[in-house]
Amino acid sequence: MSGKPKLRSIWVFHLNTGSCNGCDIEIIDVLTPFYDVERFGIKLVGSPRHAHALLVSGPLTRQAYYGAKETIKAMPPEPRVIVAIGTCTCSGGIFYNGYPVYRRPESGREGSEYPRRGGIAELIADLRDEGEKVGPVIYIPGCPPRPEEIIYGIAQLVGLVEKKLSYQEYSDELVPFKLPEGPLEERIRLTLMERLRHLVGYLDREKILEDFMGLVKEAEKSENPREELARLVKDYAAKCGDVRLGFCMMLLEREYWRVKDALDAGKEFVYWV
Ligand code: SF4
Repeated sequence: MSGKPKLRSIWVFHLNTGSCNGCDIEIIDVLTPFYDVERFGIKLVGSPRHAHALLVSGPLTRQAYYGAKETIKAMPPEPRVIVAIGTCTCSGGIFYNGYPVYRRPESGREGSEYPRRGGIAELIADLRDEGEKVGPVIYIPGCPPRPEEIIYGIAQLVGLVEKKLSYQEYSDELVPFKLPEGPLEERIRLTLMERLRHLVGYLDREKILEDFMGLVKEAEKSENPREELARLVKDYAAKCGDVRLGFCMMLLEREYWRVKDALDAGKEFVYWV
């Protein structure tokens, strides 16, 4: 959080920008008598015109973009706090490069780069470019965050508690991954499956990995398996007509050689890249 506003009580407006409703259920939980946040001076209001803060959930779909923009503009210019609730709102979450999710043109649409771009930060950047005052912004990640975490974030905002954590940049590249035990092919398969877990759902990953291992088998028949696999993956990506699937295949190809080379060289760890 930046630029802590001085607030004694805080009126909040709840806005869903395309969430799966998981975060909204937690937000509603926070507002029920069980957690009773009104005792901290936090009150839900029915119009953004009366709100100090906006509790936002969802990855910001294109459909929700203009509504969300108008909602923020309708809030009083001071303090216009944005509370981004859930991983989707903080960074686009699992939907960050999905076609219905809004991203600024300079944020690109593909890639697994870190930190991920997406979520409400994209809209805030647009609003600031237009000269609108927005912020401070509080990010409460989690899928979904627990009611206690949401209350803790808002309590920091109103100055009831001090911030305990400091900003730290995380990158997968820094985390060594221990290769699983077992025969060579099984170790590769399990590592690739783990890698796919970051990209696609449970059902799809089985099928994608099956297809990929089929291409590997075919490539191994040729004299130059590396070149052949690259060609087969390219063909597959072109034929499937889905950039996300093509992207998965290309990532698997890169990972396959990285893991295979590491195992052939007798290494036990790889770094995710
Ligand atoms: S962060 Fe998780 S629970 Fe919240 S909207 Fe996104 S997918 Fe749903």
